[in-house]
Amino acid sequence: MDSRRKIILIGATGSIGANALRVIEKHADRLELVGIAAHRRFEPLAEIARRFSVPHVGLFDADCTPDMGQLPSGCRFHAGLDGITEMAAGVEADIVLVASVGTASLRPTLAAIEAGRSIALATKEILVMAGAFVMEAARRHGVSIIPVDSEHNAIYQCLAGAPGRHLRRIVLTASGGAFLDTPLAALADVTPEQALAHPNWSMGPKITIDSATMANKGLEVIEARWLFDLEPAQIDVVIHRQSIVHSMVEFVDGSFLAQLSPPSMTFAIQHALLFPERAPGVDRSLDFTTAFSLDFAPLEPGRFRCLDLACAALRAGGVAPAVFNAANEVAVDAFVRRAIGFLEIPEVIERTMDAIGHPAAATLDDVLAAEVESRAVARRFC
Ligand code: MG
Repeated sequence: MDSRRKIILIGATGSIGANALRVIEKHADRLELVGIAAHRRFEPLAEIARRFSVPHVGLFDADCTPDMGQLPSGCRFHAGLDGITEMAAGVEADIVLVASVGTASLRPTLAAIEAGRSIALATKEILVMAGAFVMEAARRHGVSIIPVDSEHNAIYQCLAGAPGRHLRRIVLTASGGAFLDTPLAALADVTPEQALAHPNWSMGPKITIDSATMANKGLEVIEARWLFDLEPAQIDVVIHRQSIVHSMVEFVDGSFLAQLSPPSMTFAIQHALLFPERAPGVDRSLDFTTAFSLDFAPLEPGRFRCLDLACAALRAGGVAPAVFNAANEVAVDAFVRRAIGFLEIPEVIERTMDAIGHPAAATLDDVLAAEVESRAVARRFC
């Protein structure tokens, strides 16, 4: 009998997807790809389907008319959000790895949880927008959510077996992004090309801009609150340029535990897919035969307004984190199109948050409605 873990990969053609495929290929004796989905890029998706003999393939964009001849024989195609939701819940699988950009995967993720599938979560926006609902569904269905975001995966590893009462706080590390050394006065004139040159990580464009503004770290603070059931005051951020210490936890006795590995997503992805087993990794790990340093520094006050706004959204609660996330997406898109400058990204977010306020989110529909409204409001401010 085939005892391999069956994996559905949503977001197969992105940067996390590519690294996940390297992990699955290396551990083909333990992991089997049974479903893949992407936003609209059919050709690379079909190539993955052929290479891994994947029986289920889906595209979020229901208007795409795929050339079914490119798919392996017997492969079933799932069209649009409905099709992918049905795939996530209906295709027999052990783990759904959610790695698509933005909030498109919220419904497929909830459907997979309801069907009892474990979730390996790389898409932080899902918890930012709907953390209360997703975590409650996971509890109700006894489903584990293993974080793939490198910081949260590090914390998950550090907390293994520790009772919650032992934890004082977590410390998320941040590389500081492309402009850590850029004088504040020069930030107004930086270009999208400069923002897209990340010093350590090779990632998609949205998250790379989010690293430069530190909106990404703000999303991660909110994500951590839900994953580990923390008070906002228990989550700190420290600058760590080398991106080797992926995050740390501090226990009540003052001891810290940290997780270290080179800045490659394969370490976190493999941990999540094989958990609780471990196996040799895809990429070379740290080499202590060559000297290197690890630096830590506090955040410069006032430099990272997007992070401050995200923390304010977390404290405000209700729909505020979803409003922050939606406004940030609109603002980043406008920055990439050169419609607004770099320093206007937090302006747009703050004005949108002020305009919408932070009404309570009694239902998921409240959050979804606030998200739609926030996008419309943020577009007017761009
Ligand atoms: Mg991260």
